[in-house]
Amino acid sequence: MVKQNLQNLQNKILQISQKYQVKPPQIIAVSKNQPIEAILEAYHAGQRDFGENRVQELIQKVPLLPHDIRWHLIGNLQTNKVKYIASFVHLIHSVDSEKLLTEIQKQALKHHRLIPILIQINISDEPQKNGCSFNEALQLLENITKYPNIKIQGLMAIAENTDNKSVILNQFKHLKEFFESCKKKENEQIQMQELSIGMSGDYEEAIQVGSTMVRIGTAIFGERNIKL
Ligand SMILES: *Cc1c(COP(=O)(O)O)cnc(C)c1O
Repeated sequence: MVKQNLQNLQNKILQISQKYQVKPPQIIAVSKNQPIEAILEAYHAGQRDFGENRVQELIQKVPLLPHDIRWHLIGNLQTNKVKYIASFVHLIHSVDSEKLLTEIQKQALKHHRLIPILIQINISDEPQKNGCSFNEALQLLENITKYPNIKIQGLMAIAENTDNKSVILNQFKHLKEFFESCKKKENEQIQMQELSIGMSGDYEEAIQVGSTMVRIGTAIFGERNIKL
């Protein structure tokens, strides 16, 4: 079933990308709360990029799965957890504070790595959501030279949880404009390459505005009901 879902999703993404004449985004398979067997099924269907939102769950899974999986941390990251993922994480999508940059820098240095991150921006009017404001994001871009082992590769956001597609589309468009304006700030540590937007319910709107990474859980794995 996972294999079929993945194929259907890939086909839909291709169709949508053709419709809007954009490059198809990469799929990050969001495997949170999914069992190892389901993840392996996606892996054997060719999927290599997986996203998890909790460090604890991620580090339980990593040793049980193939070594060529690229692990993306997509959820709220506490500073005291950075040390558990610093040696292997492929991309941290959810960086929204200097406090986090400070800790990622420290751990990246310890592991002799350059850690790629995205800045998460809160584009909805929901204050409980993670992510910083556009102004705070500009501050983080300004200050990145203080963190030489970190590379900013783009932006991430979660749209408002609503059925109103035009609200979602507007939030994504606003983010895309900001993303484009940030290209002026590019340097050795800042490359605005990735725009991580779009989940199972809103990837069409995300692709329409130029998403480069869609983070898809339910549409690949079905409902999340297995607790680890
Ligand atoms: C769970 C999650 C997703 C995937 O959500 P689906 O609706 O299942 O596709 C994407 N991004 C983040 C940050 C998530 O926590």
